[in-house]
Amino acid sequence: MSDPAHSGQGRWEVPLWRDVTDGQWNDWRWQVKHSIRTPDALKKVLRLTAAEEEGFLATREVFHMAITPYYAALMDHGDPTCPIRRQAVPHIAETHITDAEMRDPLTEDTHVVAPGLVHRYPDRALLLVNNMCAMYCRFCTRKRYTGAVNETLPKAEFQQVLEYLHAHPEVRDVLVSGGDPFMMADARLDELLAGLRSVPSVEVIRIGTRVPVVLPMRVTTELTQILRKHAPVWVNTHFNHPKELTAEARAACGRLVDAGVPMGNQTVLLKGVNSSVRTLKALFQLLVATRVWPY
Ligand code: SF4
Repeated sequence: MSDPAHSGQGRWEVPLWRDVTDGQWNDWRWQVKHSIRTPDALKKVLRLTAAEEEGFLATREVFHMAITPYYAALMDHGDPTCPIRRQAVPHIAETHITDAEMRDPLTEDTHVVAPGLVHRYPDRALLLVNNMCAMYCRFCTRKRYTGAVNETLPKAEFQQVLEYLHAHPEVRDVLVSGGDPFMMADARLDELLAGLRSVPSVEVIRIGTRVPVVLPMRVTTELTQILRKHAPVWVNTHFNHPKELTAEARAACGRLVDAGVPMGNQTVLLKGVNSSVRTLKALFQLLVATRVWPY
């Protein structure tokens, strides 16, 4: 099993972050504000390859790059095949689109029944609440949406969602996704969950988020209290490699589970990142030890 304690170059080896205090580093707003968004900023952390630099230029109009300092510190600065780096840093190979690839591979757009609400299966629905992510995954299947200008579902449109759910009691499970719902302010998230809870037929709320992986400091006491208040709320996250299960990430998952939030993990099978039995076995074993169920 790879040792997460030796998973990257570390914060202290990057001159850019040497004067950053622990208080700043552990503040999720500081992390978001100082996210890496340009090749010049990234070069202060990594030796970029030509293919990565070209990748940034070729994709910047269609899909953002944003990498939290926390996640960037896990990267191997001299190895372009580093599994953390491959998930976050653009590469020219991204522009090679085959005929088999689709803009909307899960045909979500054709099942939209209210703003942001996708109703494809009889008893469950998907609610896209925002298009902002803490880190933009290069493999994202929702680039058509997450690549757009940052916005959150307006309150008036959310009312239309609630009207639809009230009129469709067969929907008992709502998966809240985006973007990343945990990038919303606490008050807004609280309001959103309260709205969903006002629909008697909605039994289960699930939240899809990569925050525990790329911005674990966002899992604050206030956030866990909001989730606890609206229980049962499940959190589905997205660890793809054992290197991502750092002490900070495992502690964030622990805070959620201790607040009574059941956690599941959906791993995306990614060539060159986790496409080996050894890596997946190490990942799943570590997830179970973290009290996060892998599937
Ligand atoms: S966090 Fe999810 S929605 Fe955002 S870029 Fe990654 S895969 Fe896409």
